Amino acid sequence: MVGSVEVFSSEVNGKNGSLPEDFDPTAVVSEPLPPVVENEAIVSGNGIEKKGREVVLGRNVHTMCHEVTEPDMDDDITGEREAYMASVLSRYRKSLIERTKHHVGYPYNLDFDYGALGLLQHFSINNLGDPFIESNYGVHSRQFEVGVLDWFARLWELEKNEYWGYITNCGTEGNLHGILVGREEFPDGILYASRESHYSVFKAARMYRMECIKVDALVSGEIDCTDLKAKLFSNKDKPAIINLNIGTTVKGAVDDVDMVLKTLEETGFTQDRFYIHCDGALFGLMMPFVKRAPKVTFKKPIGSVSVSGHKFVGCPMPCGVQITRLKHINVLSRNVEYLASRDATIMGSRNGHAPIFLWYTLNRKGYRGFRKEVQKCLLNAHYLKDRLRAAGISVMLNELSSTVVFDRPLDEEFVRRWQLACQGNMAHVIVMPNITIEKLDYFLDELFQKRSIWYQDGKSQPPCMAADIGEENCCCALHK
Ligand SMILES: *Cc1c(COP(=O)(O)O)cnc(C)c1O
Repeated sequence: MVGSVEVFSSEVNGKNGSLPEDFDPTAVVSEPLPPVVENEAIVSGNGIEKKGREVVLGRNVHTMCHEVTEPDMDDDITGEREAYMASVLSRYRKSLIERTKHHVGYPYNLDFDYGALGLLQHFSINNLGDPFIESNYGVHSRQFEVGVLDWFARLWELEKNEYWGYITNCGTEGNLHGILVGREEFPDGILYASRESHYSVFKAARMYRMECIKVDALVSGEIDCTDLKAKLFSNKDKPAIINLNIGTTVKGAVDDVDMVLKTLEETGFTQDRFYIHCDGALFGLMMPFVKRAPKVTFKKPIGSVSVSGHKFVGCPMPCGVQITRLKHINVLSRNVEYLASRDATIMGSRNGHAPIFLWYTLNRKGYRGFRKEVQKCLLNAHYLKDRLRAAGISVMLNELSSTVVFDRPLDEEFVRRWQLACQGNMAHVIVMPNITIEKLDYFLDELFQKRSIWYQDGKSQPPCMAADIGEENCCCALHK
């Protein structure tokens, strides 16, 4: 039993705060691990025994795990444990290589080499607190963090002395922060977001208990400004906090900042009555390099921009960048004596390695390197779209995007093998810098071959995609 730990209250032994006589500060609980709780087997209707871990909310593919076991007494001598762990890790590494090879569905650039940073693995680098205020904790990487932030502020055209930001744990944290800043500016504001917005935006609305209005989206995935206008108009008495998508998750659509600003103006929302957060998790770093793209810049009255660091940039751990105007931070922050810093971030401890990885890639590739990669991604995305279309497959590619949307493969095995993200009838491939023509050919060969099996006898037909991607992009029996 674990019950050998005494709970000391001030009433123990009737004396205030005194310890029992047999108290030994170095004593440890003899059995530190609670016993494993076995799931009860469930016998289902057809008599087949199933483990208690029934599928909850979607497919549950977590079928095996590497158990943590207790070292044997003589492990240090025999070295058996070291050998065992090494073999587990080596097999895991092989599976990572294989899984990386068959990855096309998520917007992660898996092509990077951070070998030079291996020597930093031995440090617990933590940037807790505000990046611009020195903390008492010295093992930090603020000097890299601020360098990276400067680069992004310049990219989005905000002066050094007018911006504030930090390296987040992911794009979601950027959204949580941007929307929080908006709410602190306008405590009674309404959050507007198109229905194609990432779920983290609606998560923020729930967490902050904000009124949230879902705005329609066009077939392309862009926010529908006609609907936005109507909804702004009927809520004119409350300030507007707007989430704009610089690349939607499913269709890669880019909301038109200028059109949204015009809509705000037409409905009588002056700059002191709205706050715009730009969710650039996906394309925030790609759009600046696409000529025809509406420009994301702080020269326009936007409040914040965030981006994921592990997506287009490529990073071995999730991370992101959040940039906002310095003036907003004074509304948000509190001073924390313990940190000798002010607390304007969402998290406490922050990954101090991430800024160094970002710094490393920004230095290596620079503006010109990114521009070249963006160009390559767009070209390759067009190649994929053209080949799918030529094969008579429903497909859509937004003009400013490298997200190729097509009909969901019939076979879940194929979906899993290529790690395709799916929604309804749609699947997509997001062409990142590591998705080469060779990889696309490999993918297409397999897809075409599988489709010829799925649809060979005419019993099943590819689904109609008109509602998802527009009639003109649909190749179903009716629309082709
Ligand atoms: C990926 C994504 C996010 C969330 O980013 P994470 O880094 O996964 O937290 C938010 N918005 C959009 C549009 C995204 O594509």
